Amino acid sequence: MKQFEVPIIYLSPFISAIKKKRKELDKMKREFAPTLLDFGPLQIYLARHFGFCYGVENAIEIAFKTVEENPGKRIFLLSEIIHNPHVNADLQAHGIKFLQDTYGNPLISFEELRTDDIVLIPAFGTTLAIEKKLKDRGIQTEKYNTTCPFVEKVWNRSAAIAKQNYTVVIHGKPKHEETRATFSRAAANSPSVIVKDMDQAKELAKYIAGAKHSSSFYADFEGQYSSDFDVTSDLQRIGVVNQTTMLASDTQAIADFLKQTMINKYKLTEENVEGHFADTRDTLCYATNDNQTAVANMLQTNADLAIIVGGYNSSNTSHLVELCEQKLPTYFISSDDKILSAREILHYNLQTKQEMVTSNYLPDKQIPRILLTSGASCPDALIEGVINKFVEFFPSSKKASDLLQNMG
Ligand code: SF4
Repeated sequence: MKQFEVPIIYLSPFISAIKKKRKELDKMKREFAPTLLDFGPLQIYLARHFGFCYGVENAIEIAFKTVEENPGKRIFLLSEIIHNPHVNADLQAHGIKFLQDTYGNPLISFEELRTDDIVLIPAFGTTLAIEKKLKDRGIQTEKYNTTCPFVEKVWNRSAAIAKQNYTVVIHGKPKHEETRATFSRAAANSPSVIVKDMDQAKELAKYIAGAKHSSSFYADFEGQYSSDFDVTSDLQRIGVVNQTTMLASDTQAIADFLKQTMINKYKLTEENVEGHFADTRDTLCYATNDNQTAVANMLQTNADLAIIVGGYNSSNTSHLVELCEQKLPTYFISSDDKILSAREILHYNLQTKQEMVTSNYLPDKQIPRILLTSGASCPDALIEGVINKFVEFFPSSKKASDLLQNMG
């Protein structure tokens, strides 16, 4: 894969050395077991895959280069470039201003834009409506578009489905920038509807099966369907795509469920189901797949707790948290600052959407075992910070450099 230039502050020589070693030993990426960092009185199991993905590095490289190459110019970002508070704060510190918040609420009016301004499009992409708004203001975005190619792949997939007269069902978070962008593009070509989870897929299935009157669809799916959506005619042929960072098992379950709904409704078999259900594989990106598979493997370790590092609004990171929460006490933190002491940790609760303090999170035992990973938008330097913080709590720990030597 292409190598990108990202600011040195995001890198960690320690983590880079581990990743390099694992890559050398597993060139075909078949080995998903975690790396054991055996510090002696503390054991940390580091996931096989985590940290900056292709799309994030690409976006960061473009953003920082844009700053460097355009002194004196006004530079804006449509919204957060990626879902990591540290990276966004760094860009703001370099003078970049945000036009919208992460939900699309305006922070600065587009009316204020001048033709010589630069507007960066984030890695999630943006909607056709916003692209047009920028063009109408005379802003050229092509050079400063950081949309990830794996997001564009989803757009291409939905366009292909639309061409074959299928309605596009998008499994994604309706308010997420990427899903809004994907929906806008799908809706330009075909009827489209977003389902956020299996509960909504089940509701959609009721309309497909005719078990629910079409009139209630518009309230049930408010803000999630394309204009002129006709429940009777637009749910006869469907295909499923997804936001690139959803939970693989959720997308698979939803696609299987909707396929079976079609089979039941039209009395089909696997051989002729394609007349009503497009044969699509999930559109998760490679980083989502690798990181989730690495977590599944890491969870086979008999550990005491898991620490997941990343932005609290990061979709891919929150799914790693969900996977770990099913198995053991899990703490979702944005940086090592949240590890307040060996007794207390300040962490994000996905249900209440707030930070909370938990006491006695480290087990009172001889050698605690910690699982550690991060999302695709988290700098490796933050993971190293977390490791260093834990090592400080165990003064007799081996040095990181000794560990690297023992890894060969
Ligand atoms: S998580 Fe996947 S789709 Fe999103 S930026 Fe990274 S590589 Fe691209």
